[in-house]
Parts: sequence; C-alpha cells; structure tokens
Amino acid sequence: MNRREFLVSAIVAAGGLLAYGKTAFSGGAATPHHFPVTHTDAEWRKILTPAQYEILREKGTEPPGSGQYDQFWQRGTYVCAGCGNPLFSSATKYDPHEGWPSFWKPISDKAVITQPDYSLGMERMEVECARCGGHLGHVFDDGPQPTGLRYCMDSLALKFIPAPKKK
Ligand SMILES: [Zn+2]
Repeated sequence: MNRREFLVSAIVAAGGLLAYGKTAFSGGAATPHHFPVTHTDAEWRKILTPAQYEILREKGTEPPGSGQYDQFWQRGTYVCAGCGNPLFSSATKYDPHEGWPSFWKPISDKAVITQPDYSLGMERMEVECARCGGHLGHVFDDGPQPTGLRYCMDSLALKFIPAPKKK
C-alpha cells in the first residue's frame, strides 16, 4: 500500500466510524428489536379500531382526560390492545393528575421496551409493547417510589382484564 492508498483507506475508515457513531447516538435504529408478533399494515388496520391504530401504529397520543382508563381503579391486568401481552397491574396504577393512565412499573421487565423519542422538539423515552412493537406512551422520571418512574400510557393502547372475583 503506498502513501496515497493508505490515506484514502484511513479516511474511509474514519468516515465509517463517524457513521457508526451517529447511528449509535440516534438511539439503536441500527439494531431493531425483534418483535414476535408482526402484521402487515393492512392487517393492523383490520385488527385495531382507527383510534387504536393511530396510537399503537402511528405513535399518536390521546387527548388528556379522554381515555377510559384515566380515572379507572378496578383490580386487574392491563394488556396490549394490539396483541394481548400483559403490560401493567392495577396494583402499580396511580393518579399523577396528568390525564392518562399511569403506572410506576410494568408487570415484568420483558413486557415493554423503551427507546429515545426526539419528536415534537422534546427528548422523551417512548414505551413500546415488547411483543408487537405497538406504541403505548412514554416513561418519565417523576414517578413515585420505589421506582421513581411514571409510565404515562394511552388508554387506547390498553385493554383491561378484571382480576378473578374473590370467593
Ligand atoms: Zn402488543
């Protein structure tokens, strides 16, 4: 390799590193999570109502106070409206007076995934269903103890399954 070739390959390598660094910074777009439940867009439109589709598949947000689970305090489990994956227990639900159903932790570490969301000029952590990738809402660090987290969810992304009645 002569000096000119060396310079060229060094520049290419540096460019590759730069591109890699950029991808890593942009939040894991290069390593997509594998979702066990996948559907085509047309299938999702059949499975979901238009309002659910807007939240789960297009990352929409329902207006505050509009959701059926905002002020809803029955005992049970909240599952993903898209695929039925259990997401949150009513035992961790609380009212931060923001207008959306909120929880201080998911039902398990594997129930949801989070990723940075830089939309709307804000830096937030988006929460997705780990099974189907449906957009559920965002998680903030102003929640109650013991986690200090506030999983701010859209009612339209959830489905409530009541706990079995006590005998
Ligand atoms: Zn799901």
